[in-house]
Amino acid sequence: MCIRLFYNQRSMAEMHTSSDHAGLLRRFLADRDMPCPVCRYNLRGLDSERCPECGAHLDIRVGSTDLRLGAWLTLLFSVGLPLGFFGIMTLAGLIIDLSRGYFSPLGLWIPIIVGCACFGPATVLVVRCRHALWATSPRRRWMAAMWGSLIAWLLAGVLISIATGAA
Ligand SMILES: [Zn+2]
Repeated sequence: MCIRLFYNQRSMAEMHTSSDHAGLLRRFLADRDMPCPVCRYNLRGLDSERCPECGAHLDIRVGSTDLRLGAWLTLLFSVGLPLGFFGIMTLAGLIIDLSRGYFSPLGLWIPIIVGCACFGPATVLVVRCRHALWATSPRRRWMAAMWGSLIAWLLAGVLISIATGAA
């Protein structure tokens, strides 16, 4: 009984939300020239939630043009580029070592493995925590990006110099 009641309440709420969205969409498009995001058909005066040209389901949402990507992209570049470098080094090293039939000295492999182990999780962390970084003040955002980038490039430089010294 409780489950059924909950289900009904939930469906009523969903129907209410859906009709709100449809009403908002209709009012928004009543006097605006807006292209369909799929086929570019002009949706002015649309009276349903589907594009009459291509049939795509349409929705109305809140967006922002102020995504504050600069600091985040700086940080992402600083951890993503070394990850790509160490990833390619791992792949190339494995191909070379397997074709030769013996492994290179550990002094060459350890910095490459440490590079992947550090920059892989760091890249995932930067991607997953992007909203937290975007929400902070510009000063904090850029301080985090600058310090993070400095540490990343120093670590990458040290690991590359150890690897080239061992090669
Ligand atoms: Zn369309």
